[in-house]
Amino acid sequence: MADTDVLVVGAGMAGLAAADRLVARGRRVVIVEARDRLGGRIHTTHAPELASPVELGAEFVHGRPAELVALIEALGLTLVAVPERHRRGPGRPPLPDLRRSLARLLEAGDASHDRPVAELLDETRGTGEPGEVEAVARYLEGFHAADLSLLGSRSLAENENAGAEDGEDVHRIREGYGALIERFVARIDPARCEIRLGQRVTALHWGPREVRSAVRTGNGRTEVTARQAVVTLPLPVLCELVEATGPDAIDPAPPQWQTALRTLRMGSAHRAVLGFDRRWWAPDGENGPSFVHGGAEAFPVWWTALPSHEALLTGWTGGPRAAALSGQPEGVMLRAALESLASVFRRDVAELRSALRLAYTHDWTADPLSRGAYSYGGVGAIEARELLARPVGGTVVLAGEAVARKGRNATVHGALASGREAADTLFAS
Ligand SMILES: Cc1cc2nc3c(=O)[nH]c(=O)nc-3n(C[C@H](O)[C@H](O)[C@H](O)COP(=O)(O)OP(=O)(O)OC[C@H]3O[C@@H](n4cnc5c(N)ncnc54)[C@H](O)[C@@H]3O)c2cc1C
Repeated sequence: MADTDVLVVGAGMAGLAAADRLVARGRRVVIVEARDRLGGRIHTTHAPELASPVELGAEFVHGRPAELVALIEALGLTLVAVPERHRRGPGRPPLPDLRRSLARLLEAGDASHDRPVAELLDETRGTGEPGEVEAVARYLEGFHAADLSLLGSRSLAENENAGAEDGEDVHRIREGYGALIERFVARIDPARCEIRLGQRVTALHWGPREVRSAVRTGNGRTEVTARQAVVTLPLPVLCELVEATGPDAIDPAPPQWQTALRTLRMGSAHRAVLGFDRRWWAPDGENGPSFVHGGAEAFPVWWTALPSHEALLTGWTGGPRAAALSGQPEGVMLRAALESLASVFRRDVAELRSALRLAYTHDWTADPLSRGAYSYGGVGAIEARELLARPVGGTVVLAGEAVARKGRNATVHGALASGREAADTLFAS
């Protein structure tokens, strides 16, 4: 007899969403999570000096995605609106309206013909305002964490449509994203859901109505058997298990997964959270800027903690620039961040260093349990995600941000929806 009804691999938002739904419908669940904490790419920390939480993974709620907003409200958490005023650093030409410019370029370049976004941008170069295409390219690399020679134009258009449907406003969770995970887990009945932390699934063997998983624990190996499984592994970790030929593999690897997974890409992004002795960017207690954009810096975009007046600045880099920084020691990453900040705000780096009190970063690309920040779709990704959302043999189903559909990949709300959908699919199959 199987150990449990459903094995859920991974305890990020997708895994917890699947478990919550399965348990609510009477299934027994075992969640196996390789980290010694819950949440995956939601990772909130707290500094004693700060009232606000520090987000090392997801930070914003983009728009008002209905399922996520309902969950946040049901768990008694508070959404705080982030003023989204974008501007260039001092002494630089003004920033175009990036969303409007992007919409124009997608239309001018016929995004419905699926091809790399870099190609589409090349064709439209020279149209519009001087520097507009370059500014849009920088924005896309940063926001989508994407290499534009790989990002597919239809996937991008789908992401943009999802953004328009969910709304353009931006919020944070006052208590931090980590509180969402804590309260979400607390509502899952522990009598029906066992969570095993610090245990890594190294192989999945499955057949009709049975899944056997090999699991590496802190002091050896074990096995978990189940009637069905929801697999929420981050994209590169999943691809490795699907393509492996040795004992550490998904066996049998559905051939349609291999082709479909190749159209999806994992993006690189880094954030550096820097705490200062005072809000030097907003003297005299003013609000000051919210988002400030530079140019060629390693960390070209910076945002403040507004509406909070905490003396915090967050630097962001995504795409090839972020990939180039990955694997560097934390000190090198933070030095690059401080130098970028000095360049974007036209400040003296030594002066900034002496005012610096706290610094946080996390290299998600070097992290073996994510191997990137979040995914983006290549050419053909929309059809591939449709295929990947189908269960295999009624036994195994994929979930997680990378397979989230309707343009919601790369987000917490996409992971939530995909976990719930995976649970529903297992019921139906
Ligand atoms: C820096 C950064 C900023 C972001 N900003 C935002 C934002 O502002 N807004 C937003 O909506 N989204 C944001 N995201 C994206 C968002 O965090 C993710 O889309 C979402 O959290 C992914 O959830 P998931 O469950 O699909 O994957 P994960 O959270 O990665 O969960 C998968 C779990 O599987 C575990 N695992 C891996 N390998 C194994 C194994 N072999 N065995 C068992 N367990 C394993 C991992 O440890 C992990 O806990 C950001 C992400 C990053 C990295």
